[in-house]
Amino acid sequence: MMTKSCLALAFLCLAFVLPLRAFDWETATVRGREYVTLKSFCQFYAFGYSAPSGNDRFTARNAGHSISLKLGNSDIYIDGVHFVASFPVEGGDHDWLVSRMDVIKLFEPVLRPSEVSGRHTIRGVVIDAGHGGSDNGATSRYGSEKSYTLDTANRLAKILNDAGLKTVFTRRSDTFVDLYERAHIASLYSDYCFVSIHYNSASQEARGLETYCLSPRGAASTSSAYLTRGDIQKLPGNDDDTQNIVLAAMVHSEIIKLNPGDSSADRGVKRARFVVIKQNVLPAILVEGGFVSNRMEAARVNRPDYRQSLAQDIARGVIKFINVMGDRRIALPGASAAPVAQAVVPTAPAGLAHDPANGTIKTAKPAVAGDNATGTTPKKSGKGKKTSSSMPTPPAPATVVKTDANAKPSTPPASSLNLAEPSTPTPSADGDKAAPEPDEPPTVSTTPPSSSRHK
Ligand SMILES: [Zn+2]
Repeated sequence: MMTKSCLALAFLCLAFVLPLRAFDWETATVRGREYVTLKSFCQFYAFGYSAPSGNDRFTARNAGHSISLKLGNSDIYIDGVHFVASFPVEGGDHDWLVSRMDVIKLFEPVLRPSEVSGRHTIRGVVIDAGHGGSDNGATSRYGSEKSYTLDTANRLAKILNDAGLKTVFTRRSDTFVDLYERAHIASLYSDYCFVSIHYNSASQEARGLETYCLSPRGAASTSSAYLTRGDIQKLPGNDDDTQNIVLAAMVHSEIIKLNPGDSSADRGVKRARFVVIKQNVLPAILVEGGFVSNRMEAARVNRPDYRQSLAQDIARGVIKFINVMGDRRIALPGASAAPVAQAVVPTAPAGLAHDPANGTIKTAKPAVAGDNATGTTPKKSGKGKKTSSSMPTPPAPATVVKTDANAKPSTPPASSLNLAEPSTPTPSADGDKAAPEPDEPPTVSTTPPSSSRHK
């Protein structure tokens, strides 16, 4: 009996010990950048793996998630939601390669948000209505972006307040608030997260929804073809890289439900260094709620029920984020009814008279060196734009080397790969000459936006 008990105990111990064995990542270096093999990636996350081929998309599932990747492409899908990776999938000697930067800064936090470091209870939301005062933002025949964003902000606050969350506004009237001041207001609320609301403008054809969070240090923004020196600097918002992407993922996966069955309207979770997110010390995102430059979407954005649905979906995503980041279990507000896009008689944006309980926070404008975000003129043209369809030049064959990583399957790849932060690559010669990144979202258009906007 005693022997049997000992054996049982031994097996029990083994069962706990075995999953903790070291995980051997297969890594590779391509043009100085570090990657893991797709097989290794799939093994770590328990995705079914079979060698990918040609131009086909690689799709795989594990117990809770699905992924879809394409060779030479930055457009990835997690659970059907579009993300634009920092680097395209590369081709190696025997297998596709996923950049370590994207494993650490995208896949890991999105696939396992409960493992994100620094999680803490979040008590409220700083809501940033884009533009205001002399800065109209984008305009359509129906109205101006600054009115739509303020209205959406008020609606969002009401929903969040009803759910028991506190809210603060960076502006609550038609006033101009400097971008750095908006980020400064956020810094006064250490246990909040930050949501900036905008509506988009580009060509008449451009349409759909996109959600931005800060580019990781060492990665170019989605709109930029080159890495510049500025991309290598660590920004205040980079302390929250993993929380930023989780917040973006959760909000974006909700708002795309406004276009059911219309995958082309999912423009993706993208990266940028907009002032309000790069200077932000809170988990921060910027939502683009539709194109007022598109006739159909302009009419839709003008409708109060659309803005209400957008606010509701943003609230659902924010609450999901808050629930996974801390010990709160807040019930989700109902899903939106997904109003259809249709032409309507122009009316003034409704709901602007809404008077939320929170007062405007007055702060002194912080002195920030190189503050060039107060003007309404974009800093740079669309030079070097990269769209989701752009392909990189074929990669040089990679050398795959086995590493003796000391990771465990139950720990995040960041530690598995034995590097908390990806190394910072050297910017290209072209990148060095490039102007600073514009405070403009990337567009699919070759026509510059007609309105002056800044974030
Ligand atoms: Zn805007």
